Amino acid sequence: MKFHFLTIFPEMINAYIGEAMLKRAKDKKLADFSVINIRDYSKDKWQKTDDRPYGGGPGMVMTPEPILRAFSKLKTKQKVKVIQLSPSGKMFTNAIAKKMAKQYSDVVFICGRYEGVDDRVRKILKADEYSIGDYVLTGGELPALVMSDAIVRQIKGVLGDQTSLEEARVASPRVYTRPETLVWKGKNYKVPKVLKEGHHQKIEDWRAKQKLI
Ligand code: SAM
Repeated sequence: MKFHFLTIFPEMINAYIGEAMLKRAKDKKLADFSVINIRDYSKDKWQKTDDRPYGGGPGMVMTPEPILRAFSKLKTKQKVKVIQLSPSGKMFTNAIAKKMAKQYSDVVFICGRYEGVDDRVRKILKADEYSIGDYVLTGGELPALVMSDAIVRQIKGVLGDQTSLEEARVASPRVYTRPETLVWKGKNYKVPKVLKEGHHQKIEDWRAKQKLI
């Protein structure tokens, strides 16, 4: 599966995909990444990629041509999903991540900035809009990385055997490791008893109860 990022801040993307799980997925040839600087496709002598909005209002809008030109140079296979990041898009979930990992050979992220991207890009590229949460961020780079991280985890073979097993079991946000009793500023903080008793079903039930969602 290949992830393509169209952005005016390629280094933000490179910093994240060059470490940890995404890097390991790439090293194992289970995922691949291409980061495209939209500015390279601007014909403006200052490599401008934004302009004032029609209808007025504050902020700038990303111009369509550099993005469309960059897109037309992508090397993709057949099952391509084009995603435009947007705070008013469909809410991204783990279920969607699982589906995408199964369905697509390529995912293209168009990372908006400023007031967003000229809407004709969405129309021409038949992009689906996704939001990662009910808040407004400064750009689409973090949402694109959040989505790709969640999708890559779902590609078979990316997580080691042990971690895959962890995924299949009840995952809980309440996790503990050594020491068994943490002494901090004169107080003792103990690991819940149930986790030390070795009773698998009781542990699963306890974890299920701790789930926040
Ligand atoms: N006025 C714009 C709107 O309502 O869509 C907000 C633009 S926001 C400042 C700039 C860019 O950040 C957006 O084009 C989008 O790519 C990205 N973005 C911001 N919040 C997001 C979120 N919650 N989910 C996904 N993308 C987001």
